Amino acid sequence: MFNIAIDGPSGAGKSSAAKGAAKKLGFIYVDTGALYRAVGVAALQKNIATTDKPSVTDMLGEIEISLKFENGGQKVYLNGADVSKTIRLPEASMAASDVSAIPAVRAFLFDLQKNLAKNNNCLMDGRDIGTVVLPDAQLKIFLTASPEERANRRYKELIERGTPVEYNTLLEEIIQRDYNDSHRAIAPLKPASDAIIVDSSNMTLEDVIEKIVALTKETENGQG
Ligand code: C5P
Repeated sequence: MFNIAIDGPSGAGKSSAAKGAAKKLGFIYVDTGALYRAVGVAALQKNIATTDKPSVTDMLGEIEISLKFENGGQKVYLNGADVSKTIRLPEASMAASDVSAIPAVRAFLFDLQKNLAKNNNCLMDGRDIGTVVLPDAQLKIFLTASPEERANRRYKELIERGTPVEYNTLLEEIIQRDYNDSHRAIAPLKPASDAIIVDSSNMTLEDVIEKIVALTKETENGQG
């Protein structure tokens, strides 16, 4: 199977670019952030503080998370219920960032991600895909952009969806999440040593998709 790992900070455009490239390549697109968001939502639903490690760890025995791929999109199920929309609410973002620092949560989601990559040509995006989950991926990309540009994009996205937000709140959240994600003890956000760094600050979505497709073709040709 051909596996592409795309890592980078939140709001760098990973999901839109990965989704577009996966469609062109005929691969499945696996959004692993959605898995951490689903764990965060599970804690919120049970009124468990997302920073309460022992309680979140205990909760893992009571939840089941699965993904379904249809029409090029991914749906996320928590105990059989479709939570694909709930996990996009702003409170789910911080909850995901909190629970993702808990080793038991990462271990809980590891096999699910590994199995998807083993059985499918896939483009998987996250924070630790190239470094931890798929260290043998044929292609690794670290997609980044400035915090201001990322806040700007998230702002437009949420306003278009009708979710009222403040730009400054989003920027602060992005800076806070970057800090959490890159300073945590387990699986911190950092490019794999063999990752290709792509800065999307001055690129359109189409540019990034084309770049991923071109890098994939180059890698495939290089492998003969
Ligand atoms: O990508 P997204 O913003 O949906 O991810 C939500 C949160 O899940 C991130 O802030 C990060 O803390 C966590 N995450 C992670 N490892 C991944 C994917 C996401 O720790 N592979």
